[in-house]
Amino acid sequence: MTDIVLLGPPGSGKGTQARNLVEDYGGLVHLSTGDLLRNEIKLKTPLGLEAESVISKGGYLDESTIVAMVKDWMSHQGGKSVLFDGFPRTASQVDAFVEIEKNLGRDFLVIELKVSPEQLKDRLMRRCVCNQCGYIDQRCSLAEDATKDWVCPSCGAREVVVRSDDSDGVISGRLALYDKHIESIRERLTAQNMRYCVVDGSQSILAVRQAIAAALLEGK
Ligand code: ADP
Repeated sequence: MTDIVLLGPPGSGKGTQARNLVEDYGGLVHLSTGDLLRNEIKLKTPLGLEAESVISKGGYLDESTIVAMVKDWMSHQGGKSVLFDGFPRTASQVDAFVEIEKNLGRDFLVIELKVSPEQLKDRLMRRCVCNQCGYIDQRCSLAEDATKDWVCPSCGAREVVVRSDDSDGVISGRLALYDKHIESIRERLTAQNMRYCVVDGSQSILAVRQAIAAALLEGK
C-alpha cells in the first residue's frame, strides 16, 4: 500500500477517518502531527512548551521543527505505509514532504476532505476528545457541563477534554490559515502526478469512510 496524505480543514474529520482507515487497512500507521505535538505538551518537553503557545493561538509551528519531528517519527516505523494527517500544511512543507518520500523511495496518494465553513465551525465548537484513547466525539450542546456524564463509546473512559484551540476566538483564525495555504498545497501536490481524490466530508462518518475506501480502491 502507498502512503496517504489526508488533507482537510480543522473539523473536516481527518482524525476520525484516520482511526477508521487504520482499522480498515492493516499495516497502515497514523501520523498526526497535532497529536505528536499535544503529546509533547503533556510531557512538558521544550518542544511542548513552544507548541502550547503556538497551538493555543491557532498558529503553525515553524517548518524545521515539524519536518525534524516527522523525520524522527518515520525513522521508527519500519517499512509500514503512513497516513499523514496534519502534514504537509504549507507549500514549503509539501516540498519537504516530497523530498522525504523521494529519498525513502516511497509514493503517496492524496485524499482531500471538503466541508462547508458553517459546518466546520459547528463541529469544532462541539468537539470533545477522549483523554484515554483519543476518540473524537461531539457534545450534544455547547453548555459548559455538556460533557459531565460523557462515557467514551470506544474505550469506556469518562475522562474527556475540550481542546484549547477549539474555542470561539481561535477557530476562525485556524480556518482562515488553512484557507490561506490550501490552494498552493493543492497545486504542488497535483504537480507530482500522484492520485488526488476529493471526498465530500459533510456526509455521515460512515458515508465518508466508504467514499475514502472507494477512492483508495480506484487509486491502487
Ligand atoms: P486540526 O486538524 O484541528 O488543524 P491538528 O490536531 O492537526 O488540528 O493540529 C493542531 C495544531 O498543531 C495546529 O493548529 C498547529 O498549531 C499545530 N500543527 C500541527 N501540524 C502542523 C504542521 N504540519 N505545521 C505547523 N504546525 C502544525
